[in-house]
Amino acid sequence: MLPVRCSCTKVIGNKGEAYKLAINQCLRAGYSESIAIEHALKTLKLIRTCCRTNLLTYINLHDKAIDQIVIEQNEIANRPVTHASYFDQNEWNSDDDQDDD
Ligand SMILES: [Zn+2]
Repeated sequence: MLPVRCSCTKVIGNKGEAYKLAINQCLRAGYSESIAIEHALKTLKLIRTCCRTNLLTYINLHDKAIDQIVIEQNEIANRPVTHASYFDQNEWNSDDDQDDD
């Protein structure tokens, strides 16, 4: 989550989505990533270094955590069932080992 205000007291908490949209529009138009970032920052009137640093270094941990959870759930769902197949092939499950002699 972006901080609501920069250390210079400018409100930046509401600029995250607009920043992403501006960058995506520039990238779709064929501009390079550095030009897209510069254009997005100018469009949002983020001129000071502190405000720009806040947006440029922002990492959305919420989305990363959700991606990691999805990956782990897929790994669990695709795990082979080795435990059950082991007991199916093993002699322990057969009735031969009765010691009733
Ligand atoms: Zn600032």
